[in-house]
Amino acid sequence: MAAEAGGGRHWGVPWCDTCDRFYNPNSLRADGSCPACGRRVADPAMAPTAVDEEPGPEPTGAPWHFKLLVAATVLYLGYRLFQGVLWVAQQL
Ligand SMILES: [Zn+2]
Repeated sequence: MAAEAGGGRHWGVPWCDTCDRFYNPNSLRADGSCPACGRRVADPAMAPTAVDEEPGPEPTGAPWHFKLLVAATVLYLGYRLFQGVLWVAQQL
């Protein structure tokens, strides 16, 4: 975990030695080369189109507790909005 594997492969963050900067994989060309100098900095397999092969326990949708949190927040804010409207109506 501590030492980075050799071979110059940076997972997720392509590094261009010529430009001395990191690149977002989305900002690279389709063949994985640097958009500024053309140096090859990443494998084409790392392109965004190959990301969907990444294994995930839940590929679609948010976890249930997130949905519960959103539902509770919407309910609470709706209730507070209702209270606010009633308060304004009483002040008129
Ligand atoms: Zn470059």
